[in-house]
Amino acid sequence: MKVNLKSLQMRTMDSEEFHLSAPGRDSFLSDIGGRFLEPVVIDLLVENTGKMFIGRGRVSTMISLTCGRCLEEFKLPITTGLTLNASETSGCEEDEELIVLEDSQAEIMPRIEEEIFSLIPLNPLCSEGCKGLCPFCGINLNLTTCSCGKNDVDPRWEKLKQFK
Ligand SMILES: [Zn+2]
Ligand SMILES: [Zn+2]
Repeated sequence: MKVNLKSLQMRTMDSEEFHLSAPGRDSFLSDIGGRFLEPVVIDLLVENTGKMFIGRGRVSTMISLTCGRCLEEFKLPITTGLTLNASETSGCEEDEELIVLEDSQAEIMPRIEEEIFSLIPLNPLCSEGCKGLCPFCGINLNLTTCSCGKNDVDPRWEKLKQFK
């Protein structure tokens, strides 16, 4: 996703609004069993300070993740603030976050993916109270019940008993 700063480049100390939308890259989420359900939408206000471009705005999208307990897919809405810096040259500053313009355009997708990634929990759950799968028969306990757990013995405790 590119922001075209060609016209803003001519106007120092001015700013310009951008409203962009692009499909997310599923390959970016596939490692963690996720995918994009909606395009990534960005509202950005970019300021030309004369030295560099400073962008502030919002990112929003909807992704699907796999619950770590019941293994069902669930939706996770993503909305977050975004700040980014862009410049025509990489300059002398050691700034890894700085986006260097190519042909007056700033490629912002890597920064946006970084932001989205930072919002994805390490162990995603469909809900705090997800009951997960039965350790005996593998049934999804959010949807139905089984009789395995009737005696209410945790399999780990069962193991301990054997040691006695
Ligand atoms: Zn779950
Ligand atoms: Zn069961």
